[in-house]
Amino acid sequence: MLVHLFKSGRIDGAIVTRQTGPFQREPFLAESESDIRDAAGFFFDTSHGMKRFSDYYITYSQFREFNPLIQKGLQRVAFVGTPCQIRAVRRMQILNIIPADSIKFCLGLFCSGNFVFGETQREKIAKIGGFQWADVSKINIKTDLIVHLNNGETKNIILDELEFMKRFACYFCPDYSAEYADLSFGGIGAEEGWTTVITRTPIGRAVMADARSKAIEVGRQAKQPRLAARALKNIRTWSAKKRDTAAKNRETLGKKFPDIKHER
Ligand SMILES: Cc1cc2nc3c(=O)[nH]c(=O)nc-3n(C[C@H](O)[C@H](O)[C@H](O)COP(=O)(O)OP(=O)(O)OC[C@H]3O[C@@H](n4cnc5c(N)ncnc54)[C@H](O)[C@@H]3O)c2cc1C
Repeated sequence: MLVHLFKSGRIDGAIVTRQTGPFQREPFLAESESDIRDAAGFFFDTSHGMKRFSDYYITYSQFREFNPLIQKGLQRVAFVGTPCQIRAVRRMQILNIIPADSIKFCLGLFCSGNFVFGETQREKIAKIGGFQWADVSKINIKTDLIVHLNNGETKNIILDELEFMKRFACYFCPDYSAEYADLSFGGIGAEEGWTTVITRTPIGRAVMADARSKAIEVGRQAKQPRLAARALKNIRTWSAKKRDTAAKNRETLGKKFPDIKHER
C-alpha cells in the first residue's frame, strides 16, 4: 500500500519502523520504494529516542522522525503506527500542532500490546516456545505470537504467556484495532500470508479503492461476506477485551499502584 502511494505520487515519504539489529528497531522516515520495502515486517521492541519513558507512558514515541520531515520540507507523508501512535497524531492534528498537518494518511496496526523485549524476556520466550532465536526467520502476532523457524516449522505462543513482558502502559490502552486510522491492518481474521484491512475514513476507502485494482490482491475472504463477517466479529471480540481490561486497570489509577506483575 505504501509503495503504491509512493509510486503514484501521493506521498513523498512515510514514517515507518526499520530493523537495526536482531532485536532492535528504530523509527525511520522512508523516502523511496526500497526504504519502504526494507522496513516491512513486524517488530517487537519499544522505540528509541523516548525509550527511557516510552514503557511507562501510554504512547510510545515514533515522533523522532518528525524532525527530518520538517527539515526536508516533506508535506505529504504517510504514518504507520500502533493505535497509541495513531491517536497521538490525531490529537496533534486537532490541536494544529506542526508538522502533524503533513501526515496525509494514517495506517494503523492492530495491537493487543507491545512488549519489553530484553535478553531475559527473549530467553524466557524461547524456553516457553521450545526454540532457539538463531533458528528464527520471522515473527508475527495474530491471536498468538507466531514464530517461524528456518526449517519451515512454526511455534505458536498464546498471548497470555507474554503478559510478563508487556509494556506497562499497554495495560491501560483501550484501542485494539487503531480506531482513528484511515486504514487498519492486522493478522487476526486473515488466512496465512494475508492481512486483514479495515477502511475507516473516506480517505482510507479512496486509498483502498485505488490500490485494489493496481497493487493489492483481494483475498477470497473479503469477497465472501460470511468470512468477512467472521473476521470482523473476531476483531470486535478482541477490541472489547482490550477496552474492558483497560477500563478495569484504569479504575485503580490514582487510587493505588495497580497490582500488575511486571518483570524487568
Ligand atoms: C507491536 C505490535 C503488536 C501487534 N499486535 C497484533 C495483534 O494483537 N493482532 C493482530 O492481528 N495484529 C497485530 N499486529 C499487526 C501485525 O503483526 C502486522 O504488523 C500487520 O498485520 C501488518 O502486516 P503486513 O504484512 O501487511 O505489513 P508489512 O508490510 O510487514 O508492514 C508493517 C509496517 O509496520 C511497521 N512496524 C513494524 N513494527 C512496528 C512497531 N513495533 N511499531 C510501529 N510500526 C511498526 C513497519 O515499519 C511496516 O511499515 C501487531 C503489530 C505490532 C507492531
